[in-house]
Amino acid sequence: MSNTLIPQQFDYAVVGGGPVGAVMALGLAAQGHRVALIERDAEVAGVAEAPGAANALGIDPRTVALSVSSQTLLEDQGAWPERGIGVFEHMEVWEDRGTSVLRFGAADIASNKGSQTVLGHIAEVGLWRGQLWRMLAASDVELFTGVAVTGVTAGLQDSNLNSSGYRLTFAAPNQKKGQEHDLEQGRGALSINARTLIAADGANSIVRRELRVPMTLADTGQSALAFAARTSAPHEHTAFQRFLQDGPLALLPMADEHLVSIVWSARNARADELAALPLAELQSELERASERRLGAIEQVIAPVRFPLRQGVISNFCPAPNLVFIGDAARVLHPLAGQGVNLGFEDVRALLLCTEPAVCVNAVPAASRLQRFARLRRARSRLAVNAMSALSQAYAGQSPGMLWARNAATRALGGWPLLRRQLVLEAMGLGPVARSS
Ligand SMILES: Cc1cc2nc3c(=O)[nH]c(=O)nc-3n(C[C@H](O)[C@H](O)[C@H](O)COP(=O)(O)OP(=O)(O)OC[C@H]3O[C@@H](n4cnc5c(N)ncnc54)[C@H](O)[C@@H]3O)c2cc1C
Repeated sequence: MSNTLIPQQFDYAVVGGGPVGAVMALGLAAQGHRVALIERDAEVAGVAEAPGAANALGIDPRTVALSVSSQTLLEDQGAWPERGIGVFEHMEVWEDRGTSVLRFGAADIASNKGSQTVLGHIAEVGLWRGQLWRMLAASDVELFTGVAVTGVTAGLQDSNLNSSGYRLTFAAPNQKKGQEHDLEQGRGALSINARTLIAADGANSIVRRELRVPMTLADTGQSALAFAARTSAPHEHTAFQRFLQDGPLALLPMADEHLVSIVWSARNARADELAALPLAELQSELERASERRLGAIEQVIAPVRFPLRQGVISNFCPAPNLVFIGDAARVLHPLAGQGVNLGFEDVRALLLCTEPAVCVNAVPAASRLQRFARLRRARSRLAVNAMSALSQAYAGQSPGMLWARNAATRALGGWPLLRRQLVLEAMGLGPVARSS
């Protein structure tokens, strides 16, 4: 019988090479584990230049805000974005029908984080992902790209361990289940085995579906348009967020003082309307919606539209040696820029469970994984509930709600201790973020 039928054996298989799966795989390999990473996208390793290089502003329409806490993890892994990164030192939040503006900055937490001068960074996703994949290519991680996982079998007996393991089956993305191809082309295997399976395959996780792990994703009725704009006034490293009746609009500072990344969330009908506008009209709409906080909007690029859903998986470790992380485990409204940051919190917490000193034959202790699962779910529920509450609070248009919001914003402005706590949490440095 040909060796094409003998699956390779790994300590860990990570499904999904988005930012969370990529950093997880790098961390596991650095701990000395035998790791496979499977990514459906064939092009991912080839993103050497900004995907935005092709558009008029030369930046990726898709960005993420990275917290100070994520920065520490990424720097430890050598995975901090080298290019395409903006910094924000202040935030300004206001609403279309409000009278108060909330402004805060790194100075608000200066008393105990003496040298802290930034609140966070904005990274171009495609450019950074290309960098992570070049790191992966130079690492000991076994990479399977351009192939989609189509089947997951649980409960393999591992002859060394007498414990359960997982078998993953692959297909090229355009093939259907049952038509799996020989992904290793010459090295030959239809599938791989892993003692521990980590699903980082995003909001529509195939692993979740195949293993029937429940996760309810509630439709928020909103979509986000991600794009970028050139402004006449410099952003002065301030992130702006304005709550409009249809949803929040964020203008996030990039490296160039006159370039901002835009995340404009709106009810679906309004998002459709905005996405269909000619760019010159979108430019005018943005100028109006941002109240010229950054002067005139001089140019915009075409938006990319994302439907917005929210939800948390029923269990982060629903079976022995099976772990869900990143968007495969929890999906958040982008209004507080927390999604990928919570994903990196998952990575940090999971890497503590996979340290060789606390594993047996490279397998983490069940008790540690259960604790991980409990804490990560509690933290995620808190974040999803907070995003829902914030969205709903700003959606209410009654005079009472409006008064309450303005009063709260004014109170927060004059309450340095509370403001400081909120800033620390947003940076991933507060007690809630640290508790998990
Ligand atoms: C408009 C917008 C703005 C946002 N802004 C922010 C922000 O400012 N800050 C923040 O923290 N978060 C933000 N987020 C959220 C953030 O983008 C996500 O939390 C993050 O991308 C999740 O990373 P991930 O690696 O878990 O999943 P993903 O990035 O979704 O990666 C999953 C990977 O799995 C692969 N995959 C899927 N299925 C298979 C399969 N069957 N086989 C093999 N591979 C597979 C996919 O190709 C993909 O590469 C934003 C989201 C949106 C929509």
